[in-house]
Amino acid sequence: MNGELIPTTVVLFGPPGSGKGTQAKLLTEKLSLPHVSTGDMLREHIALGDALGIEVREVIKAGNLVPDHLVIRLVEDRLNRPDCKAGVLLDGFPRTIDQARMLLGMAEGRGLRLLVIHLKVDYDVITARLTGRRICPQCGTLYNIRLKPPIVPGRCNIEGSRLIIREDDKESVIRQRLVGYDAQTMPVLEFFAEHVKFFEVDGSDRKPEDLSNEIVNWIQTTITDEGSASGEGL
Ligand code: AMP
Repeated sequence: MNGELIPTTVVLFGPPGSGKGTQAKLLTEKLSLPHVSTGDMLREHIALGDALGIEVREVIKAGNLVPDHLVIRLVEDRLNRPDCKAGVLLDGFPRTIDQARMLLGMAEGRGLRLLVIHLKVDYDVITARLTGRRICPQCGTLYNIRLKPPIVPGRCNIEGSRLIIREDDKESVIRQRLVGYDAQTMPVLEFFAEHVKFFEVDGSDRKPEDLSNEIVNWIQTTITDEGSASGEGL
C-alpha cells in the first residue's frame, strides 16, 4: 500500500474453508501488508504448550470459537507491534460482534481505514475442501488431496516433510465450525454493512490468483475514490 496516507486494515471474512488462508498469502505480498491470522497465532500457542495454548486447545479441537476476551487481547497485542502501524491484513478476525466492535473502535481511534472482503463459498464445496486439506508443518503450504495434490503423495513439494491434517478438519468438527459460523459470525456481516465498506466475491470455483487480482483492484479503486472525494489523493 505504498504512498497512501491512511493506513488500511483489510479484513478477510468468510466461512472456514472459503480460501481466506490462500488469499491471505497472495494478498499480503500484493498489498505489502503483514498477515495476521488469529487461527495461526492460536495454533502457535498450542504448539508452545503455554497457558493460552492449554486453555484453547480443546475448544479449537471441538470446532468452537475461543472466548472473545482471549482473542481480543491477542489481536490487540499483535496490532500494537510496529510492523502493523502502516496497516494489516486480518484473516479469521473478527468472528463475533464483540470482536467487530473492538476492531471498529480501534480503527476509529487510530484513524485507520477498514475494508472488508467477504469470500462467499457453498458449504458442500467447503466440506470437500476441508476434508481433503493437508498442511506442511514446516512452511505452512496448503494442499488438497483431490484439488491440489502434492507431487509426491503425503509430502510437501518444498520441504519434503510429511503433510499433516489439522485436528479440526475432521468431518464432524467441520460441521460444528459451520454451525458456529452461521450463529456467531454471519451476524458480523450485517454489522459491517452498516459501518464499513465491504466487497463480496464468490470464491466457490475461482482461481485464487484471479480472485486476488479482483480483490486488489477493488481495494485500489476504493482508496483512489476516497482520496479524490477528500481531495487527499494517494
Ligand atoms: P482458522 O485457522 O481461522 O480456521 O481458526 C481455527 C480455529 O481457531 C477456529 O475454529 C476457532 O476455534 C479459533 N479461532 C480463530 N480465530 C478466532 C476468532 N477470531 N475468534 C474465536 N476463535 C477463533
